[in-house]
Amino acid sequence: MKIDKLKQIRDNILEEIKNSQTLEIIEANRIKFLSKKGEIPELFSKIREVANEEKKEFGKILNKLREEAYDLINNLKSSFNNTEEDKIDLSLPGRNIPVGKYHPLYKMRDEIKQIFRQMGFSVATGPEIETEYYIFDALNMPEWHPARKITDSLYVDKDSQLLLRTETSSVQIRTMEKTDPPYRIICPGRVYRNEKENATHTAMFMHCEGLYVDENVSFAELKGTLLAFFKVLYGNETKVRFRPHYFPFTEPSAEVDVTCFKCGGKGCSLCKNSGWIELGGCGMVHPKLLENVGVDSEKYTGFAFGLGIERLTMLKYGINDIRDIYENDLRFLEQF
Ligand SMILES: [Zn+2]
Repeated sequence: MKIDKLKQIRDNILEEIKNSQTLEIIEANRIKFLSKKGEIPELFSKIREVANEEKKEFGKILNKLREEAYDLINNLKSSFNNTEEDKIDLSLPGRNIPVGKYHPLYKMRDEIKQIFRQMGFSVATGPEIETEYYIFDALNMPEWHPARKITDSLYVDKDSQLLLRTETSSVQIRTMEKTDPPYRIICPGRVYRNEKENATHTAMFMHCEGLYVDENVSFAELKGTLLAFFKVLYGNETKVRFRPHYFPFTEPSAEVDVTCFKCGGKGCSLCKNSGWIELGGCGMVHPKLLENVGVDSEKYTGFAFGLGIERLTMLKYGINDIRDIYENDLRFLEQF
């Protein structure tokens, strides 16, 4: 046999092995070419027929062929085995991809905005660091009022009278200063007080103050507005009740209760068996406030109210500790 002939046979054998498409064909080719009676051992026996001067090269080519065929078959086999292992198991349960969620507090804030927007209110915002003027003086807070003390409010600098706002009513004052009546605004935002933290108090929380000033605005409209709001929030059966109270910035003033939405007013642990839940403060805007910002208090009247967004959130979702809202514990947040 000639060297050229051997080289041709070699190329054909390797080509055939490479083209093996299944594990069965690989195994069949292994037997065909490499087993004891396979084609490659058969070729070794042909060395006798080769001319002496070519024997050495003939043997070299054959040895290399046997080696290559062997490696090729092993590689093909192992690549097939890996593919078997990597096959996708469609019966496995899917992996959960964590998706961000809306914070319950912001859900409530946006729901409040939405309800008041439908009643014609617009949203006003203002700075969180305020001067004493916008927090106390303009709101008719007397000089002796305890909120002015550093034990109650968080001052940035007492000398320059800068403090973190204790309510968002400052935004109402700023809005009234800039534009003419009528005003129909809500001011949701963060407020700060020097409170010791416990299950119902944090030093930072969210308020939503509302203001409506126009000609002939009456207390009945205040009642109607808050009743409409609470009905959307807690259901059509909800009733409201107003208890006389004192605030420096409104006259008359009241605290607002709604019928317990858990027991419907029968009495339960949520409402401490009273059937009512206290939800905010309100009243008719004190004429002095209007005069402070240059609004004619003979011509215009108005009402204002304040709601604690945490409290509304806690009641709606059955949250017992206000600190849960701010601790960013995923186990808590994932429930909403
Ligand atoms: Zn109840």
